[in-house]
Amino acid sequence: MSDPQHEQPAQLEPMPDDWRRALAVVAHPDDLEYGCSAAVAAWTDAGREVAYVLATRGEAGIDTLEPARCGPLREREQRASAAVVGVSEVEFLDHEDGVVQYGPALRRDIAAAVRRHRPELLITLNHRDTWGGVAWNTPDHVAVGRATLDAAGDAGNRWIFPDLLDQGLQPWDGVRWVAVAGSSSPTHAVDAGPGLDRAVASLLEHRTYIEALTKEDPESYARALLTGYARAAGERFGGRPAVAFEVFSR
Ligand SMILES: [Zn+2]
Repeated sequence: MSDPQHEQPAQLEPMPDDWRRALAVVAHPDDLEYGCSAAVAAWTDAGREVAYVLATRGEAGIDTLEPARCGPLREREQRASAAVVGVSEVEFLDHEDGVVQYGPALRRDIAAAVRRHRPELLITLNHRDTWGGVAWNTPDHVAVGRATLDAAGDAGNRWIFPDLLDQGLQPWDGVRWVAVAGSSSPTHAVDAGPGLDRAVASLLEHRTYIEALTKEDPESYARALLTGYARAAGERFGGRPAVAFEVFSR
């Protein structure tokens, strides 16, 4: 009899690729760079459009820097970081870092962004309570991840948030998948190989944040971290370095 504890985990499916536009919605500057941006680099290389929406400017993210100075700095770092992987549209929703509230106001802001960008693929970061096991997630990630999963439907319903119609934002019911990065239950993956160097360069643009976080050389830190994540995901993707997602189809 086989022991379920020692069975090989299921292999991850290749991500759907019959789409043209993706929108990534996350809580903080750097959320996409800690693991996801190698996939973004591969997508933009292939001629797909990817835009970023950030709920906050990450202004509460650096202990030694007061929010009024930190917010604009992290916004600049995020824009530079996005540019490295071919993303020129970066928007901020101005929710308050650290205390982002899940609820209609957040869902409405994200639904508005979905209607503006009209993506087939929505990307967000882990919406679950933990990263797996007992590694507790942060409330902002949970709130933004959940609200993004909800906003895929909200964006398509004209009677939810009718004031968006007054702003000229017509319903968009074209989101076909929401792909959650950093999930402990991934289902799909993207080959991280071609985009990995740019993913490292992209993470390095968050230099102020990284220098406050670690005494290590920033480049060695970024490369070791992203290579490690890609290798771990690759164990379930034929041994190729990978970016894993939990994909919710609609
Ligand atoms: Zn974050």
